[in-house]
Amino acid sequence: MKVLAILYNGFKAAKAEPRLLGTVENELGLRAYLESQGHEYIVTSSKEGPDSDFQKHIADTDILITTPFHPGYLTKELMAKAKNLKVCVTAGVGSDHVDLNAAVERKIQVLEVSGSNVVSVAEQVMMSILLLVRNFVPAHEQAVSGNWQVSDIARNAFDLEGKVVGTLGAGRIGHRVLQRLVPFNTKELLYFDYKGLPKEAEQAVGARRVEDLKEFVSQCDVVTVNAPLHEGTKGLINKDLLQHFKPGAWLVNTARGAICNADDVAAAVKSGQLRGYAGDVWNQQPAPADHPWRSMRNPLGGGNGMTPHYSGTTLDAQTRYAEGTKQILQNYFEGKPQDPGNVIVGVGKIESASYGQR
Ligand code: NAP
Repeated sequence: MKVLAILYNGFKAAKAEPRLLGTVENELGLRAYLESQGHEYIVTSSKEGPDSDFQKHIADTDILITTPFHPGYLTKELMAKAKNLKVCVTAGVGSDHVDLNAAVERKIQVLEVSGSNVVSVAEQVMMSILLLVRNFVPAHEQAVSGNWQVSDIARNAFDLEGKVVGTLGAGRIGHRVLQRLVPFNTKELLYFDYKGLPKEAEQAVGARRVEDLKEFVSQCDVVTVNAPLHEGTKGLINKDLLQHFKPGAWLVNTARGAICNADDVAAAVKSGQLRGYAGDVWNQQPAPADHPWRSMRNPLGGGNGMTPHYSGTTLDAQTRYAEGTKQILQNYFEGKPQDPGNVIVGVGKIESASYGQR
């Protein structure tokens, strides 16, 4: 079979660090295995436009491997050209870069390595909340630039203790974020999700479910977004919803950039309506140099905690999603059942509730 992987370039770093498995250079550690089984393995980072390797090879690829970090966007149109395609594997979590409805129609399975990087992201959420609330970035900038003006930083620095923190989406990541927030003695923990957490889990973290989204955001000092991108969440955090946030709230989004309207969020940070926004996911990846989230600042010079998309690709996470990808391939080749938690689209059917109602 022909297996095509779209990964990001690691250049020198990937040559020096073999644990950077999610790179073109290190090929998810799959080449020896795939070739020993007689399969052809093509790995590339070239993914945009008709002359890209992605578009050239997709025509006769049987299995496509992609990652959310350097997403190969498998549109309906591209899928129509992919005559042999049977399986798409996401090395990581989040398969919104694949047109899931088209995959159902064409009976292409979509599998991901569920859970592989949920701890990595939950830790990043904690870091992002703290760096916004404590106004860390401008303080660090003073340290490296030779400045020392404590009042300029402290005038917008707060404690997390005593604040109301809410997660939009309380699945694997959202629940882990709530668990990690418990020792911070927040005033209250809230969550907004289609369904409630299991009673025991809800009690263990002491979180309260709010069923109306506007009510939910209006009560939070900090909102963290931990829901997948789908028709029901695309552009969900826009100008209209932002008006219901507490004035000066902080927003953290490590889920998917397109859940937020980029211009509306940047405007809210610039006006101070949001005290800050942090995250690692962008509506276009790699993000263009002039993306508004790169340069936005609040009126006091802070409030920007953006990074490139890396929270779910720590070296620990890469080991887990590379192993998980191999397991999925092995199951497929050997005709064994897949772990049900990894199946987003089965043959002709959406299997995961998380990607919205269809
Ligand atoms: P998960 O276990 O499937 O949890 C997602 C939760 O969001 C589910 O409880 C789901 O509810 C809920 N949800 C779906 N639509 C919602 C909506 N409109 N409003 C409120 N809640 C909604 O997924 P996860 O492992 O926690 O991951 C969540 C997302 O994080 C992924 O889809 C991915 O986009 C992102 N992620 C980012 C990185 C990174 O590196 N930055 C890494 C991993 C994952 P139901 O199950 O009831 O539908």
